[in-house]
Order: sequence, then C-alpha cells, then structure tokens
Amino acid sequence: MGKDTVSVVRQACKKFDHEGSRILDILREVQKRLACVSGETMDLLAAELSTHRIEIEGLVSFYSFFSENRKGKIIIRLCDDIIDRFAGIERVAKVFSEELGIGIGETSSDWNFSLEFTPCIGMSDQAPAALINETVVTKLTPESAGVIARSLKKNLDTSALVKKKGDGNNADRLVNAMVENNIRKKGEVLLGDNVRAEAGLRKALKKKPEEVIQEVLDSGLRGRGGAGFSTGLKWSLARKAKDARRFVICNADEGEPGTFKDRVLLTERADLIFEGMTIAAYAIGGTSGIVYLRAEYEYLLPYLERVLARRRKAGLLGKNIGGEKGFAFDIRIQLGGGAYICGEESALISSCEGLRGEPKTRPPFPVERGFLGHPTIVNNVETFCCAARILDGGPRWFAAMGTAKSSGTKLLSVSGDCAKPGIYEVPFGIRVADVLDMAGADDPTIVQVGGASGEMLNRGSFYRKICFEDLSTGGSFMTFNSSRNMLKIVDYFLEFFIHESCGYCTPCRVGNVFLRERIQKIMEGYAVKADLDYLKDLSRTIMMTSRCGLGNTSPRPVLSSIDQFPVVYASLLGEGGEGLEAGFSIQKALEESRRIAKRSSMIYDPVYGGSSD
Ligand code: SF4
Repeated sequence: MGKDTVSVVRQACKKFDHEGSRILDILREVQKRLACVSGETMDLLAAELSTHRIEIEGLVSFYSFFSENRKGKIIIRLCDDIIDRFAGIERVAKVFSEELGIGIGETSSDWNFSLEFTPCIGMSDQAPAALINETVVTKLTPESAGVIARSLKKNLDTSALVKKKGDGNNADRLVNAMVENNIRKKGEVLLGDNVRAEAGLRKALKKKPEEVIQEVLDSGLRGRGGAGFSTGLKWSLARKAKDARRFVICNADEGEPGTFKDRVLLTERADLIFEGMTIAAYAIGGTSGIVYLRAEYEYLLPYLERVLARRRKAGLLGKNIGGEKGFAFDIRIQLGGGAYICGEESALISSCEGLRGEPKTRPPFPVERGFLGHPTIVNNVETFCCAARILDGGPRWFAAMGTAKSSGTKLLSVSGDCAKPGIYEVPFGIRVADVLDMAGADDPTIVQVGGASGEMLNRGSFYRKICFEDLSTGGSFMTFNSSRNMLKIVDYFLEFFIHESCGYCTPCRVGNVFLRERIQKIMEGYAVKADLDYLKDLSRTIMMTSRCGLGNTSPRPVLSSIDQFPVVYASLLGEGGEGLEAGFSIQKALEESRRIAKRSSMIYDPVYGGSSD
C-alpha cells in the first residue's frame, strides 16, 4: 500500500474526528483524492474507524458516487432521465464517447476520464445536462459536447467549462454555475419580493414553543415532499417525546425525476431554509440540525456553508440565538452519496448515521426514535421555507391560499415539451390545464404529475387539480407531446426503480423487473390481453407488500397509463385469444431460425421504430 493512501485515509478520518456517523464524508474525501475506495483502502479505513471491512464495503457498493474500481480524474455523469433522453442525451453521449475514446461505464487508459450515465441530476429544465466532477453543464448539444471534451483533454480543468454564469446566486463566486433558476412565476409565500429576512424567527422567539407549533397546525401546512403529512402534528409529536436531545433534519435530497424546485430554493432562499429549521428547533426543543444535500448539488455546498457561517456570526445559529437565553442550535450539511432511496425519511436518517441508505422498519417513527435513536423531525426544503413564512405572515394568511385540505402555495418543477420550463409557484388547487397554458406546453398529450412515482394523465384528465385531495406531487410536472412514445416513458420509470431499489424486499426488487419485462413485451408487439391483467395484479401486489414508499408507488405509472391510455395498449396487443399461451409470439419463436438462415426479421419494433426522440 502506498504512503499516499495511508496518509489520505488518516487525514480524512482525522478531519471528521474518526466519527462513525461521518463515514460518508470520509469516503467522499478518500474517493476524491484516490479516485476509488479500493479493497486495501477499505481495510485501512476499517482499522482507523474501528469497524469491519464489510461495513465499508457495504457503503461503497450502495452509493453510486463511491467506487471500488479506480475512476478517471474527471468523471462525466450524463443525466439519463426521460426528459434528457427525449432532449438528445444519447447523441451527446456518442460525441463524448468518440472524443474520449471510451464507452459508457469505461475509464480511459491514462486514468483521466470516466464516462457514465446517471439518473436525474435535477436539471430537467435545461436538459440535456451533465455533471463533470462537481461542475454542471446544461443545454448540451453534440457540438457543445465536442467543445467540452476537447477542452478537457487539453487542460483537465472543469472550472473553465463555465463560460457564462447563470442568474441570481448561480453567479456567486462560490457557486460559479451556468445553471439558470428559470423562475417563471413568483408566488406570495416563497419566491415573491415580500419575503422579509428573519421576520418569522423574530416573531417565533417572542412566543412559547407550543404557540409556534399551534400556528403551524392552524396554517394547515402539509409536507411538501409529496406525502403531505401535517407539519404541525409532526413537530408536536417530536416535542412530546421524552428525550433531552432532538434533531431537525432538512431533506434536500430531491431525486424524483423531473424535480428541481429545491435546487432553486437552496440557491435563492438558503436563509429562509435555515430560518425555518431554527424555528422548528425552537418549537420542538431541537439541539442540532442537518441538511441532507444530494450529492448532485455539491456545487452549492461552499455557498451554503458560507451562509451558515454568516448566520453564526450574526447570532442566528449557535448559543442564545436571537438573544433567547438557553436556545442553542446549529446546522451541519451532510452530503449524500447518490442514492434516490435516501429521499425516504428513514433511509435518509440511516444515511446521516453513516449507514447504507436503507429504510427502517416503522414503528418506532422518527419523531420518537430517529437520528442516533433520538426524536427527529425530517421536513422538506420547501416545508421549512413555508414554516418560516407562516410565522411571519400568520396562519390565517397562509390558510387563505389553496384549497380546504391543501393550504398555501406549491412549487412546481415543469419540464418536457414546453416553451417555458422552470419553476412555478402556484396556489394549491390549480388545474393541470392552467399549468400547461402558463408553461406554453407544445401539443400536450401525456402529463406525468409527481415524477416517476406519480400519475400519468391523458388529455381528458387535464381538468384535474394539483392538491392533496386530487393530484399530490412533490413538485415534478412533466409534459410530453404526441410524438412521444408513452410506453417508452413507462419503461424508463421502471428501469429507474429497478436501478434505485435498495433490494431489501422481494416484491420491489423482483416485482419491478417483472413489470418491466411485461411492458417491453407489449412494446415489442407480442403481448396479449392476459399480460395487461398480469401487470395490474402484480402492480397491486408490489404496492401492498413493499416495505417503503419506493415499492408502494413504483407501479403507479403502469396502473395509471393502463387506465389513461387503454387504446394505446390495445393497439399493441397481439391477437392471442383464449387458449393461446399469454404472450406467446410465433414471430419471436421463429426469430432464431431466421437469424441462422439469414432471413430478415419479421418483428416490428413499435418503440425504436417511432420518432419519439
Ligand atoms: Fe428497498 Fe424497495 Fe423494499 Fe423500499 S420497497 S425497502 S426500496 S426493496
């Protein structure tokens, strides 16, 4: 083992005080400096941290941003979500591959480059996009990909890729990103000009903690991550828990394909997020806070750290906050490791504890036993912002917006076939059709609300409303025109869930694979009606028997697409009637003999033969 490896591992462990719960940070440091976490390095880490190698190996294999095999100095992660696919990421990938002389999943022989596909990086409003180490590049074309690849080959400098900085704080020297906020509609709560710095916190500190919780309860605020649990109730349960240590965690791990609204809040409303977390800490008696920031947003980390440092200096974090004697609270940022499942609150807590991001069995719920066994509230970025605004504007002001069971406004991340993709702050209860109008949707034919785990809608359903009573969404809103292949979208979502399943329970780990196989059979044109029945039965079984939200929702695009697009499915079913084995295809069965006899294929490919790109 080289001296370098030993000193890198020791320095990384020392930097984080050899704390087991900071092992993700330690691994990130090691991965960056050594370009991998090799078997030997794992042994060394295990010895330094007094743990077993198997624990380290489990983490390295779980998180996609860590790798046992050596990677290039520059890792190019091409965003492979459905929006990017339709926007042409494959053509971009081809250029990178040709210029660098490596295929997807490969590393160049000089160890300079690795080229990979990665799930949604939170840039669907400026697709196709990619992460090049921590630098985000957007609106890629085959031409710009060629320029980037040649520039990197020349100087291996990713900072030189940002020729034009984005708007707002994207242009801050610590962000230095070409990312655009694309704020298309400002609302009264979050993005308007009436947001007053620290007004909510000042007012909260003049009240008793119970009164703060009552205001949040009276406002009707529900979690903005998608599940919609009452925020006030969550806070009151945590406050009642008998424990001297309580934690406040902000879920900034938005990984749902098509969601990017937290990216904009983190960029433009960082103070409001931290203010909301501080109010929550005051309300529940919280002692420490963690922002769990998705690995893909690492480019925001230095900027967010600077905001935290400024708040400490201003007495808004630390001891006696805002002059309130005895109220001590601070926040640290925990970077994720590239795992969608960590957006689930108990998996996120596991990840903060330095474990694989696997969901925990509930009960006990996090409000009773969460981070390191102490009562913990986990709220979304947007939820904390809303809470701060409620304490300033009052619960009545907030509850007057939206619908009876969905108060306030909602941030939508709109992407796909539309003239104005971006962020829209709208009151709950807005119709899908109105969102499409605002975004200048082009021939909207398929709308996916709520991301991969959401619902697919046809034109006849555009009257439906965005709210917890009807269509709930964490923020993702994707629109597709009539040139898009609906089944290709469903197939992509299943591929995504297969990739992101933590593998703990069989219905989710295996069931989604079976669903995808059957969807592909339909796409290939040799399925029969019994295959649709199979899809529906299996979908319901997966949803009922899976352990966490991922498996509980992953079949939703299958079920909603069968419900909303029966004619498309019917047009692709074969003529297999009663008595014919479900899905048997005579053409498929003869394909091998045709290949041997060098006869041309008879199988029509309705998917890749189409013009959906
Ligand atoms: Fe893991 Fe899927 Fe089971 Fe959730 S449902 S615990 S993601 S295998």
